[in-house]
Amino acid sequence: MDIAVIGTGYVGLVTGAGLADFGNDVICVDIDTSKIEALQSGKIPIYEPGLEAIVARNVEEGRLRFSTDLADAIGRSRAIFIAVGTPPLPDGSADLRYVAEVARSIARLMKGPKLVITKSTVPIGTGRMIEEIIAESDHKHPALVVSNPEFLREGSAIEDFMRPDRVVIGASDPAAVELMREIYAPLHAIDIPFVVTNVESAELIKYAANGFLATKISFINEVAVLCELMGGDVQDVAKGMGLDSRIGSKFLQAGPGFGGSCFPKDTAAVADIARRYGYEFRIIDAVMDVNRRIKERMVQKVTDATGDPSGKVIGVLGLAFKPETDDMRDSPTIPLLNGLQRLGAVIRAYDPEAMSNARSIFSDVTFCGDAYETADGCDALVIATEWNEFRALNLQRIKKAMRSPVIVDLRNLYDPKKMKEEGFEYSSVGRPPAMPVRTSAKVGE
Ligand code: NAD
Repeated sequence: MDIAVIGTGYVGLVTGAGLADFGNDVICVDIDTSKIEALQSGKIPIYEPGLEAIVARNVEEGRLRFSTDLADAIGRSRAIFIAVGTPPLPDGSADLRYVAEVARSIARLMKGPKLVITKSTVPIGTGRMIEEIIAESDHKHPALVVSNPEFLREGSAIEDFMRPDRVVIGASDPAAVELMREIYAPLHAIDIPFVVTNVESAELIKYAANGFLATKISFINEVAVLCELMGGDVQDVAKGMGLDSRIGSKFLQAGPGFGGSCFPKDTAAVADIARRYGYEFRIIDAVMDVNRRIKERMVQKVTDATGDPSGKVIGVLGLAFKPETDDMRDSPTIPLLNGLQRLGAVIRAYDPEAMSNARSIFSDVTFCGDAYETADGCDALVIATEWNEFRALNLQRIKKAMRSPVIVDLRNLYDPKKMKEEGFEYSSVGRPPAMPVRTSAKVGE
């Protein structure tokens, strides 16, 4: 099928490449000309494992193209995926201006019947809004509007797109469902479950799923606080909980709070949607509140380890919100570094892929070439993102480089006992410190 994907960011580019790999003819469109020019010359503007190869293969085989020409892309495509950003507005609601703009462009430029599919994460009612925008324009062509939310995770986006847990299709017209089944036929063939429902339910599935996952993270982060206060080990607690098949072990890793481009904005958006319908979604409100406090607590955790951070040199390993991505959006390292800098700390930092994005966010940070350079002269080293290369550091080399051997491991990558043997003063999340650090912070203080 001829397909246009409007918006060539993390989701649009993976969607375009994946749909092309399924055998469709795909044009990816973006208003960002530098992004499209880079893609046209074979450069991938984001870091995502496996993306370069799948893009190159499909471009070479003639199924995938990149363009800024929206009229041409809309004109020649039967199906149009909207994959533009839906960033949060100051009140937490999703900013739908990009989605509305694309819908208006489709209405203006369509010259025949179209299937219009929302891939972006959008509030309940957006499908109807798109239908209305298209219906109000003066062309005579029908448009079938579908909600097809995306569940890929940055860092494993290709695998997630090619083998998702499920495909959600929200549509009111059976013809739209049939066309969606055609587009995703290779997934049907490998028995991926399809959830077919109305547009509103599909829109809500995405927010409810992300809200639930964020709840799991905030929940285990509060269990970690209890462990610190009571002398437990959150990893053992999480294991004991997760082996219960009703709970499951995923998303039970305690850490510095959730970040990234989805959970913070999607929890805020679902709380906002509920409020607009006159309901307080109290669990989600609490999840967001806990996440804020957990992030503050991480600053306290570092200062517990260093003492007054003023003038102290603190190295930070990992800046992206998770490993295997260069995405810095809402990374927990942002409040961490800002908080430490406000207290007078001098920051050195390194991330394998997110440095160029990080440079535009932080000021007065010395960016280093690797973990060892970062450790050089540090009073404390903070492990903030669980990149694999931080799991097997040469600890004696790190120790030699540091002014004092203090490690604050916000991702629980190391065994406290081993760190003690290696001569470190080591603290982590929800586990007993290897050497007593002064006091442990209380949430909310
Ligand atoms: P992104 O910011 O990486 O990409 C959005 C792209 O849309 C940008 O390249 C931007 O230039 C382009 N754009 C904006 N207006 C446009 C227009 N009028 N015409 C053409 N292009 C336009 O965003 P993203 O991370 O890919 O997220 C896109 C959507 O997918 C969001 O709603 C997000 O919530 C959702 N989502 C994201 C993820 C994720 O992990 N990033 C996962 C699932 C769902």
